[in-house]
Amino acid sequence: MQRRDFIKLTAITGTTTALASCGNPEHQLIRFIPDDELVPGVAEWKPSVCPLCAAGCGLTVRVMEADAEVVRNGEHGLVKIAAAKKLEGQPDHPINQGGLCVRGQAAIQLTYHPDRITGPLKRSGARGSGEWKPVTWDEAIAELVSQLDGIAGEPTELTCLARPRRSRRLELMTAFLRGFGAQAPLPFEVFDDNVLRRANAISFGREQLPTYDLARSRYVIGFGADFLGTWNSPVAQNAGYGAMRQGHPQTRGTFVQVEARMSLTGASADEWVPIKPGTEGVLALGLAHVILANKLRPDTAARAGGAIDGWSGGLSPYSPADVEKITGVAAKRIERLARELVEHGPAVAIVGGAPLAHTNGLFTALAVNALNGLLGAVGQPGGLSFMPQPASSSPEPPRAEPARERDSFLPPTKVLLIDGVNPVFGSRKALKARDAVLAVPFIVSFSSFIDDTSILADLILPDHSFLESWTDSLPESGAAVAVVNVSAPVMRPLHNTRATPDVLIEVAGKLKKPIALPWKTFDEMLKASMPEAAWTAAQKNGFASEKDGLKANPESRIPTTARPAMYEAPQFDGDANTYPFHFLPYASQALYDGSLAHLPWLQELPDPLTSAMWSSWVEINPATAARLNIEQGDVVEITSTQGSVRASAMIFPGIAPDVIAMPVGQGHESFTRYADKRGVNPIAILAPVAETGTGGWAWAATRVRIARVGDPDGSLIMFAGELREHPHEHETR
Ligand code: SF4
Repeated sequence: MQRRDFIKLTAITGTTTALASCGNPEHQLIRFIPDDELVPGVAEWKPSVCPLCAAGCGLTVRVMEADAEVVRNGEHGLVKIAAAKKLEGQPDHPINQGGLCVRGQAAIQLTYHPDRITGPLKRSGARGSGEWKPVTWDEAIAELVSQLDGIAGEPTELTCLARPRRSRRLELMTAFLRGFGAQAPLPFEVFDDNVLRRANAISFGREQLPTYDLARSRYVIGFGADFLGTWNSPVAQNAGYGAMRQGHPQTRGTFVQVEARMSLTGASADEWVPIKPGTEGVLALGLAHVILANKLRPDTAARAGGAIDGWSGGLSPYSPADVEKITGVAAKRIERLARELVEHGPAVAIVGGAPLAHTNGLFTALAVNALNGLLGAVGQPGGLSFMPQPASSSPEPPRAEPARERDSFLPPTKVLLIDGVNPVFGSRKALKARDAVLAVPFIVSFSSFIDDTSILADLILPDHSFLESWTDSLPESGAAVAVVNVSAPVMRPLHNTRATPDVLIEVAGKLKKPIALPWKTFDEMLKASMPEAAWTAAQKNGFASEKDGLKANPESRIPTTARPAMYEAPQFDGDANTYPFHFLPYASQALYDGSLAHLPWLQELPDPLTSAMWSSWVEINPATAARLNIEQGDVVEITSTQGSVRASAMIFPGIAPDVIAMPVGQGHESFTRYADKRGVNPIAILAPVAETGTGGWAWAATRVRIARVGDPDGSLIMFAGELREHPHEHETR
């Protein structure tokens, strides 16, 4: 029976009526009496928070009457509910100002996904077999309590993996773990920004991502950061960028993007500058050299300049001619760009993404920071600043140490809690994340879906969706004032799920040695974390800022004692003769780091540059493809020292001839009907190379070779059929 027939049939029969359909007992339907007071046809708009990335955009949710299929006391039936129908950007939100990216639009599918886990599950087959039996919440919580009681004498054997996104939820998890005697949640993030945070601590005394005042910039130079697509706070940055380009009647701000593979952001630039991977910092210092040598600006770089070796001597090793030899960018171009930066200001430089994922990433970030100092961009209109942060309720705010810095993926662990991360998919092969997880005696997942990691769990305690529960986040960047996002549920839970923070509070109280958490519910914690006036504002708008009485931490500078950084040539895994190409994985515009691959709207979204969808592809420069006899759609094999993946070739003019790129996102072994075994995962062939300044993972430091291995196999699905415009086909460095 189609769902439409199902609803039509029950609509005829009215409430609380059992009816027989087609004579089959399995089609006996009950219409339950709704719990909500509903006005048919009238929409209500409720505030919420986008949960999909750390940007923390505010939402308004259109809520209307709808029929929902539910199970009540073991009986299947229909009930009229107030259901979320559409997400929009919250117009008054200081970060997204009414905007919402395409991923945020699709977030509604998290709630109505047909493969959502609808209640607690206990493993009934071998690990990874996907065999489960439903259990009650009482049974599930008793099982977790019993496992934790079993390690009460060795509390450090409890480990939790979570996303390092600032939130009260993460603070509650930290309080739970600390109260038990374990360490704070171990952060896991595929594309983290720890190199830039570290550089900002050294250059500016702020271990934080910057906020850019693009609306008042007149000249922007980007170094690899996809700031209009996936990086930092893209909706806020799009709003500022739009104002820079079109908000001033007389002047259209200029934008130059430096990168080895054209990103969505690079496609918007007035000038795209291809560069040798890992040399972006040298170009930044080459620009600074021209400005200093020609006294185009007074040297205002102060602390940021002092972080670079040779700054006070005028950066003599970075003359345009020397920089051309290293970067491949012509000396004349460097001279011109440097003068434009000064003459057409206010100017700002933005760095993020792949340039910071080389072995010399910290140097690159410090070099761009010093350039910003020289341009007078720090703390000035049209430049960059650091968003005030709300006063924390937690004595120990979680720190974002990258998981990859550790020698082994997990410390000795007997009980593992996994919240919102999928490390089996997102870890490089050498970490052996799957083996490490499998070696843990008892694994608990709070996932709403069976993914590559939760499939290994012994117990799944599914969380509510963000629309069904209290949701919060503490944005790090994107606005000029401190902001806290807090929103109440906009609809009742569809399934037999429970909010993870409330589950932890309940478990804390049931342990033989209870953990004394000061809150009875998560919303009590949220309320206690802010002044009354801010709480009232948050209830109404889904966020509170300083104008609502929110208190911000006093601005303070972190003292650092780093030695001045020197350029060291980037190191790559793989011999250049055997593996002649740089390999560049990048965050997909639709699927991000792969965590959104289960959402069908995002799978069917054509990639804005290639128009590919539902598939994996390998981007290759037309000249390189011609030399290797590779045509569009041919199956190619990419091989590194770590292994091989096969996917369809995408002849892509916006990529340097010695670079091969692939979007991250596909290649899940298990992640709902929409992403299971679809495409390939480029993370699988990335090498275990460290960024030397921080010890973080240099995910852009792998070399590969490419070979044609077959004719098109039909797996490359393109909306447009071909790339019709090749504006940068003849671009050279
Ligand atoms: S940038 Fe997009 S995905 Fe991230 S919070 Fe904002 S709307 Fe959500």
